[in-house]
Amino acid sequence: MDPETFRRDLAAWLDDNANELAPPYKGAGSMDEQMAHYSHVKRSLYDAGFGRYGWPESVDGLGGSPLLRAMVGEEINLRGLCDPNPWTMIEVLVPTVIEFARTEVAAALVPPFLRGDEMWCQGFSEPDAGSDLASLTCRAAKTDGGWLVSGQKIWTSFIQYAQRCVLLTRTGEPNSAHRGITALLVDVDSPGITYSPIETMHGRLDFAEVHYDEVFVPTERLIGEENGGWQVAMDILPYERSTTFWHRGALLHRRCSDLVAHLVANGDRSDTAAKALGHAFQSLVAFRSRSRDTQHRLANGQQLGVETSIDKILITSAEQQLFGAVRDLLGGVVEFDDDIDAAMWRTDYLYSKAAPIYGGTAEIQRNIVARRLLDLGPES
Ligand SMILES: Cc1cc2nc3c(=O)[nH]c(=O)nc-3n(C[C@H](O)[C@H](O)[C@H](O)COP(=O)(O)OP(=O)(O)OC[C@H]3O[C@@H](n4cnc5c(N)ncnc54)[C@H](O)[C@@H]3O)c2cc1C
Repeated sequence: MDPETFRRDLAAWLDDNANELAPPYKGAGSMDEQMAHYSHVKRSLYDAGFGRYGWPESVDGLGGSPLLRAMVGEEINLRGLCDPNPWTMIEVLVPTVIEFARTEVAAALVPPFLRGDEMWCQGFSEPDAGSDLASLTCRAAKTDGGWLVSGQKIWTSFIQYAQRCVLLTRTGEPNSAHRGITALLVDVDSPGITYSPIETMHGRLDFAEVHYDEVFVPTERLIGEENGGWQVAMDILPYERSTTFWHRGALLHRRCSDLVAHLVANGDRSDTAAKALGHAFQSLVAFRSRSRDTQHRLANGQQLGVETSIDKILITSAEQQLFGAVRDLLGGVVEFDDDIDAAMWRTDYLYSKAAPIYGGTAEIQRNIVARRLLDLGPES
């Protein structure tokens, strides 16, 4: 499908279905409302075909370039039809699961996820293994027909809504670092999994601490090779920084326009406002230019890698500049006001503080750029 025709058809369909796809709640809504609406939007897109383009036929997709997926999320975010966060899980996890999981497992499990009938989550971080992911200790011991997983994960987003989890486990010796890690696709309702949600600064139960107590995972749920989980993780991380960020960039552009509209409505034409807006917009454009190139490399079949750390650095800066400008220019709205618009600005401002942390911290991204792209030498 030609991308421009696709975008035209998509835009026409979204125009026709605007009311039906709009969130039924005001503002950010509760987490339950947001997740129910996310499922509704995904299902509508899937049933209309738009949610199946850009995915291979092996998982019930309709084929075509990954650019088509970038366009769908972009249009949805520009129109404010669905929060991008739950959606990220698809773009982060599915490409790697298609590549590394057994064909029949991906064929059976991916379509319900693409249709919004299921949610998945990512179990990587542990209390003592975040930036230093290769030191993870959650253990998978071989047993008849599979593995028994025991250990702890933390910051697992959306697990309370999820049916599956892409889990990194230790299968090698305790000190085997990245050589002894295995990735498994685990059913979240398996006996032995318990979790306690953790509240974020913006008052949502976005993620959880998760305990695994002898959780049985069958052999066919192996993703990649046994002890080959590091390769799986390294494949996932660039996806986390490509299509997903393009979608988020569209949300940032919309919120930048909202800020301009707010300032104009309040008669603020000051130099201070112009300067802060200019900086924020410049950062957004810098990110978008870079990410556009990333989307095209992905579409051309190139393997994404460490260079996507640049995308992460740029979107983090853009997000912080934009919502920093919001707080500075709206004079107390973020801190004190209680109407729906103020609550949305507050949510966005507080969530922007997570941008330099999730998906690899800002310091780690800069280390990667310094060492692996600029060859500036080893860590001292
Ligand atoms: C909103 C949100 C959602 C998340 N969702 C998930 C999820 O779904 N699944 C999941 O597995 N994880 C998730 N995470 C966790 C995230 O991946 C980790 O928080 C992140 O990798 C950092 O790890 P850490 O928190 O252990 O911090 P640490 O690694 O302990 O880092 C603490 C500080 O030290 C700095 N630091 C560490 N090492 C170095 C170094 N070598 N050089 C310079 N500075 C260094 C870091 O930059 C940071 O500032 C989420 C996090 C957030 C904020």
